[in-house]
Amino acid sequence: MDLFNVYPLVNITPVRALGAKLWDDQGQEYLDFYGGHAVISIGHSHPHYVQRLTEQLHNIGFYSNSVQIPIQMQLAHKLGQVSGYDDYTLFLCNSGAEANENALKLASFHTGKKRVVAFRGAFHGRTSGTVAATDNPKIVAPFNAGHAISFVDYDLKAVADVLRGGDVCAVIIEPIQGVGGIIMPSDDFLQGLSLLCGAHNVLLIADEVQSGYGRSGKFFAHQHAGIRPDIISVAKGMGNGFPIGGILIAPQYKASYGLLGTTFGGNHLACAAALAVLEVIENEDLLAHATAMGDHLRTELLAHAGALEIRGRGLMVGIKYDFPIKEIRDKLLAEFHIFVGNASDPTVLRLLPPLNITKAEVDRFLGALFALVGVTA
Ligand code: PLP
Repeated sequence: MDLFNVYPLVNITPVRALGAKLWDDQGQEYLDFYGGHAVISIGHSHPHYVQRLTEQLHNIGFYSNSVQIPIQMQLAHKLGQVSGYDDYTLFLCNSGAEANENALKLASFHTGKKRVVAFRGAFHGRTSGTVAATDNPKIVAPFNAGHAISFVDYDLKAVADVLRGGDVCAVIIEPIQGVGGIIMPSDDFLQGLSLLCGAHNVLLIADEVQSGYGRSGKFFAHQHAGIRPDIISVAKGMGNGFPIGGILIAPQYKASYGLLGTTFGGNHLACAAALAVLEVIENEDLLAHATAMGDHLRTELLAHAGALEIRGRGLMVGIKYDFPIKEIRDKLLAEFHIFVGNASDPTVLRLLPPLNITKAEVDRFLGALFALVGVTA
């Protein structure tokens, strides 16, 4: 049987990876400045992560979400403590799209309403229930029959106009748009949005699937604006490559048996992976490190990248040029052996390196980029 051919592949076969580096079957070393769309948060094969997963493999394998699973509670406690959301509850699932689907469901159950407000250029997943980007025909997913979606710009008046219709259950927003091209609503906008949602009894869902888990230099990107959303969806960096997602739910939304559910959500291995990630983020002070490396990267890029704009926060960086970046991206890989990402905007280069990337590795990337497009400031 062949694989269903939906991904264009580069001709590289990685066989080993450590930290921000990986090696192919020819022994060629690569620098990973993209981490599989922000999935690799603590670096490939981190020893603590490998040890945690290995120990779990030797431990209990029996899994059913109708028995008590202490490691789920450990994960919820640790996530509450590290993220500053101790008073929220956690529902565990398997991916970002599934997290957002459950967030939207919960909002509908709570309000009895169906309309969702989302923002132009956003990407929240590819299952039929989640909200796909509107402006890139390559990534448009079918809309769910259950939810009507209103797409708006970052304009509080436009949001208020939709909310006044009285049929909205939730506003969903990426505090930093990833796929859309590292686009950030202002902190003022997020604060205004939070107040607006509160005033209309509409749930605010922060989709932190890509921007969360320390990527922006704070645990969640919305924390730069000091807001507290009703629901926060997480995935990607949560398991450092092991599939896991979840939603953090504000204390006023109460659970009842059967309200949400999924077979694999919260299985032992996924929880062990997610705990290892949180322990490494904490023990290695990776939020501070991501901030420092992000500042260094941004300073150098502003001075020498010859770009129109340097976007993002921490280690979620977009470099906006006035030409398509495909050639730069291809050359970084072919000539300098560095993986970087693109976005739905073809003129944006997207950088999402592991949070524990070293300064030497950042400088290696900068040297390569500047050799291709560098200018002297
Ligand atoms: N939300 C955001 C912000 C994302 O960037 C993505 C994936 O790129 C998703 C949701 C969907 O996550 P998944 O691919 O795990 O379903």
